[in-house]
Amino acid sequence: MLLSTHALTGAVVGKTFNNVWIIIILSIVLHYIIDAFRHGEYLNRNSKLNEFWKVAVDIIIGLAILGIIIYFSDLSQIKTRNVLIGTFFSMFPDLLTFLYWKLNFNFLKKSFDLHAWVHRYPPFSKGRDWNLKNAANDIILSLIAIALLLL
Ligand SMILES: [Zn+2]
Repeated sequence: MLLSTHALTGAVVGKTFNNVWIIIILSIVLHYIIDAFRHGEYLNRNSKLNEFWKVAVDIIIGLAILGIIIYFSDLSQIKTRNVLIGTFFSMFPDLLTFLYWKLNFNFLKKSFDLHAWVHRYPPFSKGRDWNLKNAANDIILSLIAIALLLL
């Protein structure tokens, strides 16, 4: 899934729960659950580091949407902190994947394998192509998350 989608769904976890440990664990678990939905990917296993500007754009869009929501909502300081913790940890598994994949942090192999396993469509299959059809679940989940954040 897009990092924006992960960020927004993690923010909902942070807004919903008060215990920081529960937020961290649920955000990480939710990452793997929604990665099991069909979704297109703008990077593949052959992507080079110079394509990672796409990751930056993805993160910036997600954080910008969140920033606007937080700015216009009357979340307490604690709730805002919890939202940001949920946001960070909902993207954390992808950070681990990156560290293993591009920077050879070999102790993260198990995490990398789990992350690859939850993706139902194999690399380079039609289900992972970067197109609008495959973005449907990202769009739906993001809109649901935004609605829940605004409630
Ligand atoms: Zn992921």
